[in-house]
Amino acid sequence: MTATRSAPAAEIDLVIEGGRVIDPSSNIDALADVAVDRQGRIAAVVQARDGGLRSAAARRRIAADGKLVCPGLIDLHVHVYEWVTNFGVRADGAGVGSGATTIVDQGSTGPWTFGGFKAFVADPAATDVRAFVSINAAGALMGGMKGDILHNPGMTDAAALLATMERHPRQVRGIKCHGESGALSHWGTQVLEQAAEVGRRAGLPLYVHTGQLFPVIESSRPAPRSVLEQVLPLLKAGDVLAHIYSSMPDGIIGEERQVPAVVHRALDQGVHFDIGYGVNFSYRIARMMLAAGIEPYTISSDLHADFNSYHDNSQLDYSLLGAMSRLWALGMPLANVIRAATVHPAQVLGEAGQLGTLAVGTPADISILEVRKEPWRFADGRYECIEVGERLLPWLTLREAVAHEPCPEMMPDLYQPALAASRAPVLA
Ligand SMILES: [Zn+2]
Repeated sequence: MTATRSAPAAEIDLVIEGGRVIDPSSNIDALADVAVDRQGRIAAVVQARDGGLRSAAARRRIAADGKLVCPGLIDLHVHVYEWVTNFGVRADGAGVGSGATTIVDQGSTGPWTFGGFKAFVADPAATDVRAFVSINAAGALMGGMKGDILHNPGMTDAAALLATMERHPRQVRGIKCHGESGALSHWGTQVLEQAAEVGRRAGLPLYVHTGQLFPVIESSRPAPRSVLEQVLPLLKAGDVLAHIYSSMPDGIIGEERQVPAVVHRALDQGVHFDIGYGVNFSYRIARMMLAAGIEPYTISSDLHADFNSYHDNSQLDYSLLGAMSRLWALGMPLANVIRAATVHPAQVLGEAGQLGTLAVGTPADISILEVRKEPWRFADGRYECIEVGERLLPWLTLREAVAHEPCPEMMPDLYQPALAASRAPVLA
């Protein structure tokens, strides 16, 4: 790493000193100090071996010895239309409270409901809240429930969706849609085709839910292995397939014992793979994909409350940093894990070089993490457990230089040993 240019000392508001800076956007992994200016922007990153910034005058200092100092994490998949959707959680709980400075709501809103989301959720939040707006006009009001009604072809409004994207170019960064068995059994790829058409016209990516979500008409249920074959031809480079390590039979791998050719075709086509951790993440499939060299492009949480009740997250047992810790434990290098929650989601958002980086002049969105070294158990969606010796915890999260403490209640998989211990191992 070379020292980036320094701001005049009088301009430095904050120095984060002594941490291990991991910034995959510039291939930095070294002990370094980070300075933030009075406009809330990164002013300098100076490696310890180049003298660091301990002698620089600053109004505030944070001692980050032993901590990881990373660009602000971006969670590409959350559900935060709290109180309007039954399964939405609090935006700042999913965001700065969970170590992420930017979060992306995936399809809780549609063009008919985005206005309320912007006014009452996104704008007031301390977190940078973006959205992929649903191809259906109302959004996912009931999670995966009522999909046959809420997501049917009569519920789309392409003109309204395009207008919403044009009106809110900063916050609306793509389209949420579904390539799953329930939709295919009801109306084939009709709604997905509409989403793809809007995505092409707007030049924005699709985020495609895979697996099975909506109620299925059994008599026209697609063969599990045909789902991706039907979906893939409709996607363009830069679109994102979600839940790639899901154990759902209709998911990308399903019951297969080796990675099917269609998965490699998707990668060749330039389609990105996202974790979308959620309730179906499978160690068996993760191991198989990683052994085949297929790392997720992005790691996201799919943080949401229960689909079948109202505003109830008592069953939540996963988190963004929990998902990252699991991928790290499964053998994904730490720098790649951080890249999958910084540089890559920034790319998907069209914000490369602005978000997910500690480059000088960018907003001081910084996630300071602790590597907690102690025995811990992480369950997957099938309650298979792995034993790990270290995990990533949020320590302090700065969004435009303002510090936020973690909300442990939003990350039970990282903080509640009883939860980890209660998961009986299931042999896959
Ligand atoms: Zn989701």
